[in-house]
Amino acid sequence: MPLAPRKDPSAVEGEVREKIHLEILKRTGAYHANDHVLLPSGQHTSEYIEKTLVTTEPSFTEGLGAVIAKHFAQWPVDVVLSTGPGALILSHCVARAHPSRPIVVYGTKGMAAGKRRVSLPVEFQRLLREGTRALLIEDLVSTGTTLKLLIDLVEQLGADIVGIGCLWRRTSVNLGGKPVFSLVSRDFPTYNPRECPLCKKGVALNEEFVRRRHHRRPSTIKEVRES
Ligand SMILES: [Zn+2]
Repeated sequence: MPLAPRKDPSAVEGEVREKIHLEILKRTGAYHANDHVLLPSGQHTSEYIEKTLVTTEPSFTEGLGAVIAKHFAQWPVDVVLSTGPGALILSHCVARAHPSRPIVVYGTKGMAAGKRRVSLPVEFQRLLREGTRALLIEDLVSTGTTLKLLIDLVEQLGADIVGIGCLWRRTSVNLGGKPVFSLVSRDFPTYNPRECPLCKKGVALNEEFVRRRHHRRPSTIKEVRES
C-alpha cells in the first residue's frame, strides 16, 4: 500500500505556531471564535477580533513582538514604523527585540475631507529619508488601506521597506508584493444576513460588539472647551 503523502515538516510547524499565536490572542479576550457576530457593517460572521484588546497584555505583546523581530533579524533595520496605538505598542516590542536596535517612529491616521489619511509628524521626517531601511508593523491587517498609505509615504521619502510584520492578516489582502510576515494569516467569511448559514441554523446573533460602540459610558469621555 502506498504511503500517504507526508506534510512538509516546516508547514506543520507553521500551523502549530499559528495555533499558539491564536491561543494567545484568545487569552487577551480579543479573539472570539465559534460565535455568530453582527459586524458594524451589518454583515454576520463566526469569528471576530477586537483590535483594541490585542495589545493589553504586555508580556504577550513582548513575546509576539520578539517572534516578528526574529523573522526579520537577518536584515538590518534602521526604523520601525507603524500607525495607530495598538500597532505602536507592538512596534516598540519588535524594535526592542531586533538585533539592529532600530528606532521607533509612527505615523498618525485620520480622516480629512472624507478621505482616509496617514501623515508623519514633522519631527520624524528627517529620520526617514533616502536609503533608510524601514520595517513596517501593523497589529491587524484587514483591508490593508492604512498600510498601503504608509507604504506610499515611506517610498515617497526614498526609504526602503525591509518588510511588513503583523499579528493578524486577512489572506486576501494584497500589499504590493512586499515581504509580509504575520503571526496569524486567516480569512473568515462574512455573510449578508439574508444568506447567513448561522442565521439559517437559528444560532442566536451576538450584537455585543456593535452595541458597545454606540453605548459608551458618559464617564469614559472628558472634555473641556478651549477659548
Ligand atoms: Zn447570521
